[in-house]
Amino acid sequence: MNSYQDYFGQFGGRYAAEVLRTPLDELEAAYRSAIADPAFRAEFDRVAATYTGRPTPLMHAANLSAACGGAQIHVKLEGLANTGAHKINHVVGQCLLAKRMGKKRVIAETGAGQHGLATAAMCAKLGLPCQVYMGAVDMRRQKPNVFWMELFGAEVTQVDSGSRTLKDAVNEALRDWAGSFADTYYVIGSALGPSPYPAMVREFQTVVGREVQSQCRAAGFEPDALIACVGGGSNSLGMFAPFLEAERPELIGVEAGGRALAPGQHASRMSGHGVPAIAHGYKSLFLTTGDGQIAETHSVSAGLDYPGVGPQLAELGRTGRVQFTTASDAEALDAVRRFARGEGIVMALESAHAGAVALAEARRRPPDQHLVVNMSGRGDKDLFILARELDPARWREFLEREAASLAPAAEAEVRS
Ligand SMILES: *Cc1c(COP(=O)(O)O)cnc(C)c1O
Repeated sequence: MNSYQDYFGQFGGRYAAEVLRTPLDELEAAYRSAIADPAFRAEFDRVAATYTGRPTPLMHAANLSAACGGAQIHVKLEGLANTGAHKINHVVGQCLLAKRMGKKRVIAETGAGQHGLATAAMCAKLGLPCQVYMGAVDMRRQKPNVFWMELFGAEVTQVDSGSRTLKDAVNEALRDWAGSFADTYYVIGSALGPSPYPAMVREFQTVVGREVQSQCRAAGFEPDALIACVGGGSNSLGMFAPFLEAERPELIGVEAGGRALAPGQHASRMSGHGVPAIAHGYKSLFLTTGDGQIAETHSVSAGLDYPGVGPQLAELGRTGRVQFTTASDAEALDAVRRFARGEGIVMALESAHAGAVALAEARRRPPDQHLVVNMSGRGDKDLFILARELDPARWREFLEREAASLAPAAEAEVRS
């Protein structure tokens, strides 16, 4: 496969403001040279092995497979990577590229905080100052990740424009970059944005798919289907990429079905709800309102609620090479519980969307079939959401006690 591509069918391209042409041209040239340089690849592999924690294991979910009574489920434990998700893969690649380009500062946008967290961590490792743009609403929802990013020394900048979520953080990061690109690298968080970002992010994530390929071979089976959740597309494309040119295995992308497939209640762009549009510098399928504005979305998982989908996935959906389906909030929560009880792993809520579909597929396929599901992240970050969903009364009691213990000394004395 080409490691660089501008368009995927009609999708992709570079629809950025005039001022961004120079930095995007510069980025493309630097990326092309880096990816062709064995020394750059060796450095990526070295950091992956000694910092990221690669290769991540491929685990046979023997108990759940038996319980389903059908196909064998295997889980790629990408959540065991440093900072808890696959995001670190494209962050390592981009931050090494920033260093190679001689950039002195790194910026990023973040929604749930996972991409910002990975970027802040890698910048700490490389000694690069890091500024992360995050919507005010997301900062409130994802306080623990704000805490971790600041612990890594990053500056987290609150975005108060628009709906004060991820799309507004992207706009703010692009605005910063337009004025700062001479010394600043913009680390994008998924396989989207203006070219060359979609192809570059996919390429850095392809390490996941290559490992799956060799781990399946070593375990003595050919996968029948690969299943991954789809926000922007980085974890799914990373796993699918080495298999795209072949007819098998089946490739299944799982979007957020949310509460219902009604406007504002989900984030499924590929199930007929998304329409071709241009936003954030690229053309793809977006959820829009009647008057053409980017729509509000909902998912229990903060990483799957972006209103657009990466351009390569939009095209792979059109050709049919990747099939898309959805899992609802409730199905994802149920899958978290099942994988925890059955296999001793806590899936991130995003990954649990893929986990839910893996369980359903396993039930309706014969035992000699093999499914590989990407656990894109681990669920530690979701403690505050899981606990209030799964055990609300005791969680509330705990939080009240914690809050009381933080009260000023005088107040605490009066109480005791
Ligand atoms: C960000 C995130 C996703 C969604 O992003 P993609 O680019 O579609 O992979 C999925 N899982 C986890 C754990 C994430 O942090």
